[in-house]
Amino acid sequence: MLQLTLHSKLVLNTGNVIPVLGLGVWQIPQGFKTEQAVTWALEAGYRHFDTAKLYLNEASMGKAIRESKIPREEIFVTTKLWTTDAFNVDIAFETSAKKIGLEYIDLYLIHWPIPLLSSHTWKKLESLLEQKLVRSIGVCNYTLTQLDELLKDCNTPPAVNQIEFNPFNYEKELLDYCQQKGIVVEAYSPLTRGIHLDNENITKIAMQHKKTPAQIMLRWALQKGVVVIPKSSNKDRIIENADVFDFELPLDEMRRIDAVSHF
Ligand code: NDP
Repeated sequence: MLQLTLHSKLVLNTGNVIPVLGLGVWQIPQGFKTEQAVTWALEAGYRHFDTAKLYLNEASMGKAIRESKIPREEIFVTTKLWTTDAFNVDIAFETSAKKIGLEYIDLYLIHWPIPLLSSHTWKKLESLLEQKLVRSIGVCNYTLTQLDELLKDCNTPPAVNQIEFNPFNYEKELLDYCQQKGIVVEAYSPLTRGIHLDNENITKIAMQHKKTPAQIMLRWALQKGVVVIPKSSNKDRIIENADVFDFELPLDEMRRIDAVSHF
């Protein structure tokens, strides 16, 4: 486990690789704030960024990446299709890609399940993949049943299922299912949006390792084989969230964290 580093990557079903740590930029205002957060993250070694049409900051994220002059192939960029664009996938993708302004998008996700349109929308994403407009495609917030249905009726299975994943929202069955099917799980809200960072049990484990509760939550998810995309717009916390590769949670602590919401 200790071999996990800031530069570790997981292989997606398209053969492309995704860095295990990324910066989520939801709720960071477009413009200077997003540019600053992305720049700080790049300086701290992040090479993976997660945005969406809905976040309204695609252009600012793209601008900061372009201005960094870091080679494009070193960086992984995700954006997402919003539900209202289910019948408008080509234009929605093109608009997002144009705003981001990089040569390509690494991962395009359906942001929220669109039950009756799932198969239709997925076929449109598959078409983007076939045209090589995007490198990998995936979904967000899909339940086990929804994934099962999609898998029965697709040419390319989703590379990723991005779901809420933290010790207080730990769906082991869904994680196991995705991992068996070769679908990488990406943890959104890996820090519980800050709500449970004062949990007594996590805090105790954090003190043992001279780490913060946020770092414990991220390390726990990483050790589950999950990609984490914590959001912060604060320089120190951006750095802190990337400093999770110099320690390991032993099995008994992993188990205590697994059960943390039931203590
Ligand atoms: P997180 O669990 O990442 O928590 C973010 C909150 O925690 C912010 O308030 C942040 O404040 C605070 N924080 C960050 N680091 C620390 C730290 N080290 N110590 C204390 N507080 C900290 O929540 P999100 O819901 O934002 O999830 C992360 C990303 O996942 C999103 O940005 C987005 O990219 C993605 N996402 C995807 C969804 C989907 O439907 N696909 C849904 C929700 C999120 P501050 O900025 O001040 O540091």
